[in-house]
Amino acid sequence: MKKVFGLIDCNNFYASCERVFDPSLRDTPIAVLSNNDGCVVARTNEVKEMGVPMGAPYFKYKTQLEEGGVQVFSSNYALYGDMSRRVMNVLKKICPQVEVYSIDEAFIRLDGYLPEEEMEMYAKRIRASVWKYVGIPVSIGLGSTKTLAKVANKLAKKSESGVVFLRSGEQVSEVLRDFPVGDIWGVGRRHAKKLHALGIQTAGELVALPDVEIRDVIR
Ligand SMILES: [Mg+2]
Repeated sequence: MKKVFGLIDCNNFYASCERVFDPSLRDTPIAVLSNNDGCVVARTNEVKEMGVPMGAPYFKYKTQLEEGGVQVFSSNYALYGDMSRRVMNVLKKICPQVEVYSIDEAFIRLDGYLPEEEMEMYAKRIRASVWKYVGIPVSIGLGSTKTLAKVANKLAKKSESGVVFLRSGEQVSEVLRDFPVGDIWGVGRRHAKKLHALGIQTAGELVALPDVEIRDVIR
């Protein structure tokens, strides 16, 4: 049986934590600022749709945020750490082989635990449980490597169900064809720039590149 990894990633984590702490904010757009209130480091979907980018300098967007009725918070790392522990505890109770990857992300391993055709439904149940017990929305991507689970998670963020399983080779090729090369896990901004300079925009184009050229690019 092939390997199947899952990546569970909390949506808009810091902003979602503020909503759990004060449920009256469920329908209020929220932005969370970095230390010393310098930059925007978390945004609910409404704020993303307003065109406020990740890392936006607060002073530049202050007026726009005010006019958009956005509730702005200084970061509260004690709260986020506590919420993170709660999310991870739920996952550890219900999932096999949880590997906490960051404050709002964890990998799980599903092969050998479930038949493949049940994995997507299982991921939906994980999602429902975290929502029920902690109140944090998560997206779940499933794939045969951690990198593909990350790719699937990006797609899951935009999907209705919040779960995407890149199961077949055809699905993987189809998705990679259009997937921005700079969004691949491990491809930093510097490498992405070099790849763009070579005319490589998508993961599909990167996959098609001969090894020798890749070595030249990443050196
Ligand atoms: Mg996240």
